[in-house]
Amino acid sequence: MGQSSSARLKRMSSMIELINELWYLKRDLVSDDYDRALYRLAQEVDGRMRIHEYPTGEPCWTWRVPEKWTCQEAYLETLDGRRLIDVANHPLHVVSYSIPFEGIVSRQALLEHLHVHPHLRQAIPFVFKYYQRDWGLCTTQELRETLSEQNYRVVIRTSFEPGLLKVGEVVIPGESEESFALVAHLCHPAMVNDDLSGVVVGLEVARALLAGAKPHYTYRLLILPETIGSVAYLSHNEALIPNMAGGLFLEMLGNDSPHALQGSFQPGSQADRCLTTALRGLDTQGYTAPYRTVINNDERQFNAPGVRVPMLSISRVERRDSPTWPYPEYHSSLDTPAIISAERLEASKQLVLGLLQAWENNQYAVNNFKGEIFCSGYGIWVDYRLNPEGHRRLFEIMERCDGEHTIADIASELEIPFQAVQEITHTLNEKGLVRYSREPHSTRPARMQSK
Ligand SMILES: [Zn+2]
Repeated sequence: MGQSSSARLKRMSSMIELINELWYLKRDLVSDDYDRALYRLAQEVDGRMRIHEYPTGEPCWTWRVPEKWTCQEAYLETLDGRRLIDVANHPLHVVSYSIPFEGIVSRQALLEHLHVHPHLRQAIPFVFKYYQRDWGLCTTQELRETLSEQNYRVVIRTSFEPGLLKVGEVVIPGESEESFALVAHLCHPAMVNDDLSGVVVGLEVARALLAGAKPHYTYRLLILPETIGSVAYLSHNEALIPNMAGGLFLEMLGNDSPHALQGSFQPGSQADRCLTTALRGLDTQGYTAPYRTVINNDERQFNAPGVRVPMLSISRVERRDSPTWPYPEYHSSLDTPAIISAERLEASKQLVLGLLQAWENNQYAVNNFKGEIFCSGYGIWVDYRLNPEGHRRLFEIMERCDGEHTIADIASELEIPFQAVQEITHTLNEKGLVRYSREPHSTRPARMQSK
């Protein structure tokens, strides 16, 4: 008793504090620093995080868990020993999962293995070759342009060894076993917006859900290494998949762009209808776009054949036709705490909680009435001369309260915010005219079979 109350008193770190503490770790897919970050995050949910482990080589549907990768040393020198690039100065100077290499190489051979950012001259790019088995270093365009000697010395000391891929799972049990998944990836060494920002927002949302009243749905936050982490988890928890009614991938939530809500592979799903219409009522700057048109992440694994969980994604990214899509510092050494703010993270957290609130409230509106409601008699009539729009809306919503439409279905059909529909159904519910149901409950009279 004393222990649990003191645990409750323990001050948790803020999202920004966690980012400042963890961002510079070398969080490669299977690595010591990835594990450090995950265990640190687990402390923030007071023993509620379960950590799943998948050993190197473990089959995960068509994939296998990769080796643990460690870089002991990596640098580039002139032949007279002048060090030009050194991973000790920044973790991104080596390609993630680079094979070891040591030798004298010609300038030409070096340039084939030396990666720079396509448009940021002073940034070191994030390059990964998880499954290609190649060596490589990364640097700035500025440094590459100074390379004028015939030959250079390259040293890359890395090791591949059996390890454990780790997935953190926080479950918030609901009344129902039907669940909703929140997913963010913790991999990506020394970067912030992609996707430590999504991880800390997800964790804060989980903490808010744990502190609140028991929800209807069960919620499941998954913190994992991108792609392989999702495949490992799903392939080892297949029994959970039929109960996953929807999901939301969280990424890039700290920078200044407006929220982009990307639909799932099943745009007609309740998750899609509910979240896209709820966004309209929560964030007028936000926009929605179809599956795979904003940005691709772990939601692909949930939406894929044989899984088909309708998972949307929320991120702050520029429009796809922008030259700096998804944001200027993407996959580079400039993706640091300097490009994000506590205010943006907080706004994203509130938005996600608002979307989940709509998801909780999304039910079938079942009519207790027949015919058109005598609105004046119930004190709900809207004068069309004073408010023609409100008058029309009221009738459009009422005629869809038939036990076959959810609130999200109605909002979707009328192209209005979820909350606007909910306001009307709430009034009708208070008047005893409408009841809510988690299941469809058609009130059409049965027709005689025609002979
Ligand atoms: Zn990324």
